[in-house]
Amino acid sequence: MAVDWMWGWQFDAACRGEDSSLFFAPNYFEKRDQKEGREAKAKALCARCPVREECLEYALQIHESHGIWGGLNEMERRQLLRERALRAG
Ligand code: SF4
Repeated sequence: MAVDWMWGWQFDAACRGEDSSLFFAPNYFEKRDQKEGREAKAKALCARCPVREECLEYALQIHESHGIWGGLNEMERRQLLRERALRAG
């Protein structure tokens, strides 16, 4: 997500001060390998982030539809929400 505004858990975000273009798709067409490369760098930051869980739960809660949050991209978060809904019955 690349925090430039913050409250609570965001103070401890590993992406604090990082370039937000790593976390969000550009406004031009991004080829698959470019997207994968960009997301891999963002996810590497998330992997060592002390607030990864809080970040992911926040993004799931607000149905954030763009970017990498908590180590997952938008499609991965949608999948996780579907799985949770199925488990909840
Ligand atoms: S989990 Fe990733 S996107 Fe979320 S605060 Fe940490 S580094 Fe930033």
